[in-house]
Amino acid sequence: MPRPPAATHCPYCALQCAMTLTPVAADRADAADAPTAPVTVAGREFPTNRGGLCRKGWTSAELLRSPARLLAPLVRGEDGALHEANWDDALDRVVAGLRGIRSAHGADAVGVFGGGGLTNEKAYLLGKFARLALGTSRIDYNGRYCMSSAAAAGNRAFGVDRGLPFPLEDLDGADTILLLGTNVAETMPPFIGHLAGAQAAGGLVVVDPRRTATAKLTEEGRGLHVQPVPGTDLPLLLGLIHIVIAERLVDVDYVEQRTTGFDAVRRSVAQWWPERVQSVTGVAALTLRRLARRLAAGGGTYILTGRGVEQHVDGTDTATAAINLALLLGLPGRTGSGYGTLTGQGNGQGGREHGQKCDQLPGYRKIIDPAARAHVAGVWGVDPDTLPGPGVPAVELLQSLGRPGGVRALMVHGSNLVVSSPNVDAVRAGLAELDLLVVCDFFLSETASLADVVLPITQWAEEEGTMTSLEGRVIRRRRALTPPEGVRDELWILAELARRLGCTATFDTDPEQVFEELRRASEGGIADYSGIDYAMLDRGEAAYWPYPRGSAGTPRLFADRFAHDDGRARLVAVAVRELARPRPRPGSGELELITGRLLEHYQSGAQTRRVPELLEARPEALASMHPATALRLGIADGALVELRNRNGAVRCRARLTTDVRPDAVFLPFHYGDEQAANLLTGDAVDPISAMPEFKTGVVRVIPLETE
Ligand code: SF4
Repeated sequence: MPRPPAATHCPYCALQCAMTLTPVAADRADAADAPTAPVTVAGREFPTNRGGLCRKGWTSAELLRSPARLLAPLVRGEDGALHEANWDDALDRVVAGLRGIRSAHGADAVGVFGGGGLTNEKAYLLGKFARLALGTSRIDYNGRYCMSSAAAAGNRAFGVDRGLPFPLEDLDGADTILLLGTNVAETMPPFIGHLAGAQAAGGLVVVDPRRTATAKLTEEGRGLHVQPVPGTDLPLLLGLIHIVIAERLVDVDYVEQRTTGFDAVRRSVAQWWPERVQSVTGVAALTLRRLARRLAAGGGTYILTGRGVEQHVDGTDTATAAINLALLLGLPGRTGSGYGTLTGQGNGQGGREHGQKCDQLPGYRKIIDPAARAHVAGVWGVDPDTLPGPGVPAVELLQSLGRPGGVRALMVHGSNLVVSSPNVDAVRAGLAELDLLVVCDFFLSETASLADVVLPITQWAEEEGTMTSLEGRVIRRRRALTPPEGVRDELWILAELARRLGCTATFDTDPEQVFEELRRASEGGIADYSGIDYAMLDRGEAAYWPYPRGSAGTPRLFADRFAHDDGRARLVAVAVRELARPRPRPGSGELELITGRLLEHYQSGAQTRRVPELLEARPEALASMHPATALRLGIADGALVELRNRNGAVRCRARLTTDVRPDAVFLPFHYGDEQAANLLTGDAVDPISAMPEFKTGVVRVIPLETE
């Protein structure tokens, strides 16, 4: 009997578009003209995507029977090559390696690197596995590269971090939407349907140094594109706050009743008068004034941030400035207006709530909090004193690979480290120093190809579970297909490894049972899932956290109070610091490097570069630059160039476009090997969130072919 259609969601980004997967009938699957995918994909009506999907979603099923898919474990032999092995032998190798390293170097010599695409159940069990089965504190995940700045700013200001503290549909009624550093028209195209109201009102404002597809949505009277010098978002926001205060646009009652810290913020922006901001950002003082007045005009205003302003060494302060602006205008917690941050990875929200972060336990609890430790230890049936303390964030963990006192064995789940990490040359060197590298993946990604053991896993259409979308809404992932013979679910892998390591704690392999345990572990925490169960999700009920047992959940946060003890939001004064981030030297020929995404690819491209249609559309990294810049450097459209700085070099072809400023070059980060954009990024991180500086840098562009 063929399986019935499965109502599920896209495997990629945080919009989590709803889709229906219908298995192809067996007789069709064998036909000469059989479809290449074992299921057909159809968009499904849902509030976020309204039946729409982007090109990535439409082609997502192509990966299920990809010829590149791994169908057996791989173990590195004495000849240095990876060879197929059976599961018993592969797991034995992992367990023997972990045991040996632990006994020789201690539990913290074993590290775990998770991912923001893992289901809630996997993220939860991975954190439990690290703390109980391995006894290590060394766990962090790639969400550190994604949401950590916005999360730190949200926690600091509101006492809670939920990407959008309101349903996405609320944007439909807005007159003004300020998008700071987010290119939704390419990263999550169905999202732009929610911008139509603001466009019609002429109030879509996009701040981006590039003329992106999203920036083009503001043209023809539909809004405003503000194009600052790359890396100057913080002064730009301080300038807007200065104008709001100077022109008495502050919502005084709101600020008095619902916030603290106004005087310090007022003092901190005193020197950021518009003409000074213009000299730093390149944005005209008149434009800044027009924008500030528009934001304060009422009629429904939203301020939304994305990675473009967050993935910097001052990312937390920049997101904080955006929140300060929103608070001064009285936006958060009012229906019809607000502040939010647009989560990127599929489970970027849930992935940071259940214990993958080095400093957290499930329920978004702090691992250093004795009450939190006692609660979670009680659910896990262990003594709280046996739980490890806080570990170190992702970049620090990777910098310790193979070093004395550092990590000597690493387990990687849902990450392609040697494409997505900053300073990838150093990461590659660190991985080469390890005694054991274990990677769970469905393809031989750039990182998996370096592993000692590769464990092949199920894909999204073959598994049950839950994800938490960018709205903080918990949704169901449903199985449409039986997995191929040789692959295993990561829940099973973690349970089996825990058993073989002699861990006596319970590791369920049934996702619903894992979720039941997660509910209890999260109960009373910030991200409380205790009132959510699979049955209600299967009935299609909307479940927004916090959702305490017996409640109706929380679609909109902050209506009456913020999450700090006194119920007030914090206005936090921030300042432009002397940054570790270098800037081009005048007259040097150096350019600002901007990194970012393309419509056709997702994250490190490990999946989408294996979809033929997507690869054909965007087969290689192209360095986009202004024609005037190219003329000055003697570079023709399509010519081979080298981008070089003190961190490394990338070789790729040039693409000439006026969408990029003459002082900048844009490079997408979805490619590996010699085209990895992160060959050019360094180790500097935000001191608060540990977010690397991904978005800007300084490069020289050297022509390798002459006209
Ligand atoms: Fe998938 Fe995101 Fe595209 Fe929707 S917008 S189809 S969730 S990649």
